[in-house]
Amino acid sequence: MKKLSLALALALAVTCVLLAQDKVDEATSAKIRSEELEHSQIMHTIHMLADRYGPRVTGTPNHEAAVDWVIAETTRWGMKNAHKEGWDFNRAGWLNERAWGFINAPVHENLKFEVLGWTPSTNGTATGSAVQIEAPHGPPAPPPSADDAAAAGGRGRGGRGGGRGGPQFQGPTQAEMDTWIAATKDKVRGKIVMVGKAAVIPVDFNEPAKRRPDDQVKAQYENPNGGGRGRGGAGGGGGRGRGGQGDTGRLSAQQVASQIDKMLIDNGALVRMNDAARAMGIIVAQQHAGYDVTNTIPVVILRNDDYGRIERLLADGDEVKLEFTIVNHTYPEGKTSYDVVAEIPGSDKADEIVMLGGHLDSWHSATGATDNGIGSSIMLEAARLIQSMGLKPRRTVRVALWSGEEEGLLGSLAYVKEHFGTAENPKPEFAKLDCYFNVDTGTGRLRGASIFGPPEAAATLRGVFALFSDWGLFGVSPTTSRMTGGTDSTSFNNAGLPGIGFQQDPIEYNSLTHHTNLDTYERIIPEDVKQASAEVAAAVWQVANRDQMIPRFTKDAMPAPVVAR
Ligand SMILES: [Zn+2]
Repeated sequence: MKKLSLALALALAVTCVLLAQDKVDEATSAKIRSEELEHSQIMHTIHMLADRYGPRVTGTPNHEAAVDWVIAETTRWGMKNAHKEGWDFNRAGWLNERAWGFINAPVHENLKFEVLGWTPSTNGTATGSAVQIEAPHGPPAPPPSADDAAAAGGRGRGGRGGGRGGPQFQGPTQAEMDTWIAATKDKVRGKIVMVGKAAVIPVDFNEPAKRRPDDQVKAQYENPNGGGRGRGGAGGGGGRGRGGQGDTGRLSAQQVASQIDKMLIDNGALVRMNDAARAMGIIVAQQHAGYDVTNTIPVVILRNDDYGRIERLLADGDEVKLEFTIVNHTYPEGKTSYDVVAEIPGSDKADEIVMLGGHLDSWHSATGATDNGIGSSIMLEAARLIQSMGLKPRRTVRVALWSGEEEGLLGSLAYVKEHFGTAENPKPEFAKLDCYFNVDTGTGRLRGASIFGPPEAAATLRGVFALFSDWGLFGVSPTTSRMTGGTDSTSFNNAGLPGIGFQQDPIEYNSLTHHTNLDTYERIIPEDVKQASAEVAAAVWQVANRDQMIPRFTKDAMPAPVVAR
C-alpha cells in the first residue's frame, strides 16, 4: 500500500511538472481507461485477424479478406471513409495450402517443418533418400562491427546453417564453388537434400527477462534528448547475411544460395531441407530470395531436432528414406496489394491529420498474432474507443494498416510517397500530417516511444504519457534518424515526417514468436494490449486537440535524406 501511494505521489509530481509543457486532458484519459477496461473489444479483433484471416501474407486472399473485414468493422463502428488503397507489390502472392512429411526408414515418424515462402509444390508425393551437402564457406569473417552486431537477427536464410551467434564466413571463391558443384551435383538426383550441418543449440541458462524493470526504462527516458532506442528509433531489425565485408572476389551468401538452387534444379533433386537452427521446435520460414517459385525446388525448414536426428542417422551409415507432399499456391492478382484506412472526421481542424497504424500483413507459418495482428488490433481498438465514446477530435484521426511490411515496409513507403512526398519534395498533404503512431513489437506493455523531430516534439507527448506511468509508460525520446528499418514509423521518418514508434516489454517476442511458427493468439496478454489501446487512444486524443501541430524540424535543422532500403 505504501509503495503504491509513493508511486502515485511520484506520478503526480511528474505530471505537475509536465503540465507546464503541454496541457493534458486528464478527465478524458481517465474515461478512456475505464471504457477500455470495462468494454474492450480488442480480443475479438485479434481473434478475427489471427484465427479467421491469418496468416495474412501480402498479396494473398487471406490478407485481402482481412482488409475487407477491417473496412466493414470500422464502418460498423461509425468510422468514415473506410477504404483500401492499392500499391504495386509487383510479385504474385504465395501461400502454402497443405504440407506433410515423414521418415519412412529406418524409423517411422512425422517430421515437423514449415514450407519456405515463394517455393513450388512437390510433384505429387516426393519420396527419396536423404543426402547431406555442405557448400564451401571460405575463411572465417573478421569480427562484426558493433553496428552489425546490433542489427543481427537474420538467420539460416539461404541454408548457410549456423543458428544465432553461429560462426560467420567470408564466402567461397567462384573457383571453389565450381569445384564443389562438380563434385556434388551427381549426388543430389532424386534425393531429398539437406543443405548445411545441423546447428547445435545449447540450453539457455540465462533466458532474457520478459518485462523490463521500471528503473531501467525510466533511466532510458530520463535523458529526454537521446538514448531512446525503441523500435522505429535508430535503424534496427532485419540483419542480413554475414557480418563484416571480407575479401572482394568472394561470393556473397546470396550468390552461393542461387548457385546451390540452380544445381539442385539442374540435377533433379526432389526437395531441399534447411535446418531451422532454433531450440524448442521454433521454426522461422520466410521467403525464398527473389519471390519466384521457378528459381528453386521445393524447400522446407525442418525443426532443428528432426534435422539433427536425420544427420545422426546418416552418420550411422543408414539409408534414411523420406517423403514429402507439399501443395502451394501463387496468386498473380496479388501483384496489387492494399493498405487499408478509416477515419474519424475532425471538427475545426479537420484538414489536419493524426495517423495511427501498424502492419496487417504477416509471415505464413503461424497466424501473425504478435507480428503484427496485435499492433493492428491495438490501433483499431484505440480508434474504436474514440469513436464509440462519442469524442469529437479537432483534427481528423486516420487509422491505417499496411501490407508489404515484411517484404521491406513496402505498403507504408508507397503510401507516404503517394500522399506526402518528402521534406525535400513535399506534396500538399505533407504540411497537414500531424504525426503517425505505430506499434509493432508484440504483445508487451508500451514502455515509451521515439518520435522523429526536435526535442520539443517529444515534449508534446510527455504529459499524456505521464498519466499512464502506473502502467509502466515512462517517456518519449526524439530521434533524428531518417533510416528505414524495423517498422513502418520509419517510412514516415524517412520522409521527414513525425513518425512515433512505441517501445514495448519484450515478453516472448524475440525469444519465441517473432516470425515463427509459434506466433499465435495464445501468446497475446489481454491486460497488456488493453492498456496499450487506452494509452494510444489518449495520446491520439491529446495530439488531435492541441492548438498547434507537433513541432517539426525547421528546413535548416532537417537531417539529410537517406535512401529507403
Ligand atoms: Zn512486424
